Amino acid sequence: MAAINLTKMDKEIIQKIIDHGGKGITKCIQCNACASVCPVAKAGFPLYGRLLFRKIQTGHFEEIIEDSSSWACQACNRCTEICPRDAKPFEIVFAFRRIQANELAISTSAFTPLMNLHATGHAVYSEASKELRQKVGLPAVPVTSIANEKAQEEIRTLLDNSPMGELGIF
Ligand code: SF4
Ligand code: SF4
Repeated sequence: MAAINLTKMDKEIIQKIIDHGGKGITKCIQCNACASVCPVAKAGFPLYGRLLFRKIQTGHFEEIIEDSSSWACQACNRCTEICPRDAKPFEIVFAFRRIQANELAISTSAFTPLMNLHATGHAVYSEASKELRQKVGLPAVPVTSIANEKAQEEIRTLLDNSPMGELGIF
């Protein structure tokens, strides 16, 4: 296989992924184990983990920045459990997503979770869950940001002052 010559900018992109929390990007050996368990790959999204990492590693960042596949990640961490290189693929996907968010390359599918996060402190939220929780003897809401007005206020401040505040969805 021919060697890949990365430009200075390609190397800067890899460093950017590392700086945004995806330090495992340099460990990935393209074994595809993560894809074998990933719901994003199974659902047929074109840019699932291994392929996303390959594009980043080989200097194709600009052509993938607007791809919405990363927003389908379920944060299930199956990839992290199976990766033989401890590359923590989930963290790389989220590092990429953070960069996309900074550049407002956000899938519209992420708008509802973002609006939930801004309103309640939880990205995934349903009023119906309150009743279900109470039925099994749990408090209506968990002891997380959803039950903490101060934490919610802080989350709102962070979102309002992030690049996503410019989207006009909050
Ligand atoms: S399992 Fe790990 S090493 Fe294999 S392709 Fe996925 S991230 Fe790369
Ligand atoms: S955390 Fe995301 S990338 Fe990893 S297996 Fe789950 S859906 Fe796929």
